[in-house]
Amino acid sequence: MISGQTVCKSSECTGCAACMSVCPTNAVKTIVCIDSCVSVIDEKLCIKCNKCEKICPQNHPVEKIKPFIWYQGWANDKKIRMEGSSGGIATAIATSFVNNGGSCCSCVFENGNFVFKFASNSEEVKRFSGSKYVKSNPQGIYNEIKKIINQGKKVLFIGLPCQVAAVKKIVGERKKENLYTIDLICHGTPSPIMLDLFLKENGYDLNKLTNIKFRKKNNFYLSENYKGIKPSNVRDRYTLSFLRSLNYTENCYSCQYATFERASDITLGDSWGSEISKKEQDKGISLVLCQTEQGKELLEMTDLHLEYVDIKKAIENNKQLSNPSIKNSKRDKFFNTLYKTKNFSKSVAKCYFKICFKQEIKSILTKMKIIREE
Ligand SMILES: Cc1cc2nc3c(=O)[nH]c(=O)nc-3n(C[C@H](O)[C@H](O)[C@H](O)COP(=O)(O)OP(=O)(O)OC[C@H]3O[C@@H](n4cnc5c(N)ncnc54)[C@H](O)[C@@H]3O)c2cc1C
Repeated sequence: MISGQTVCKSSECTGCAACMSVCPTNAVKTIVCIDSCVSVIDEKLCIKCNKCEKICPQNHPVEKIKPFIWYQGWANDKKIRMEGSSGGIATAIATSFVNNGGSCCSCVFENGNFVFKFASNSEEVKRFSGSKYVKSNPQGIYNEIKKIINQGKKVLFIGLPCQVAAVKKIVGERKKENLYTIDLICHGTPSPIMLDLFLKENGYDLNKLTNIKFRKKNNFYLSENYKGIKPSNVRDRYTLSFLRSLNYTENCYSCQYATFERASDITLGDSWGSEISKKEQDKGISLVLCQTEQGKELLEMTDLHLEYVDIKKAIENNKQLSNPSIKNSKRDKFFNTLYKTKNFSKSVAKCYFKICFKQEIKSILTKMKIIREE
């Protein structure tokens, strides 16, 4: 339990850390706890300038814009599409952006952490590829972005919707034409503490992993370089809890960005419910929403296959374009067990006994080569 004055209500704090980056005395600290985020003010250091409160996108939301173009599609570069979580569109846009002289900032897995880095060539951009289904840490990056933009350079930021809102707040009106943003349709994010616990219980150390993947196209499972923590035909408990909205940080269940109107220039997600052939779906298809002329510019500069999407159907199949994820009714049971046992896997099993039991059997049979891994 963290006490003290907070920048916004801790049930609403997204962990975006915008407040932390504007504090002139380093009095604000954003902490991602196991079940929520909080931005606490150290009253001994605080000079009451109120900058943290004013920048907070939860206290003062950014403008959200209705998309005016939408497509489904993929990167024409086969490798980029294959490595991407859906159609590889994010990485393809980032690649053409840096090839045109801009700098792209997005999330990478490095030394056990999900942090933000800049890329200025196509080789560096490759590190961004793939969804990390965990709360990433943008601390320190916004002021770097602002600095580059103020030098007159163009920056493309790709991140979660709450992080895009934070970047836009920090950059403000000055030279905002140099900032391009892409946000992801977001189901919600668990604290990285969950991931760490799950991996430890399975004999892995997050800090020692060279690479971590959360899905291989439409197969959602946790792996190191696609070698599953559990066999890839088994639904591991981290993925199960993520897909069931069991353990996101508290704020995710009232997310203000889970709407059709968006804070970014472009929004990307999976094209769930697509009528394109199964063969193409297996290679990954992204849903693309474009809100601004800057977004249109990004799409036009990139080698993409884009085609018509029935937007009504896309919204029906992607609930986070209308509402935040619904809090799982077993969430309290999950956290109560977790606080008591400190065991992530047991806590998931307490909520989903039958599913976990079945998956455990499947895992054993796969290891015995009685059933085949996918
Ligand atoms: C936590 C989370 C929840 C999601 N929920 C949904 C959903 O409910 N419905 C849906 O349609 N799509 C969802 N997505 C988006 C989806 O998984 C794909 O990211 C999206 O379709 C883009 O795919 P791509 O192949 O174009 O991107 P890629 O080419 O694979 O690039 C992905 C980009 O996203 C960035 N990124 C990945 N993970 C994070 C992270 N944790 N924080 C910040 N940036 C990150 C990468 O750095 C990279 O720039 C979610 C993504 C995340 C990270």
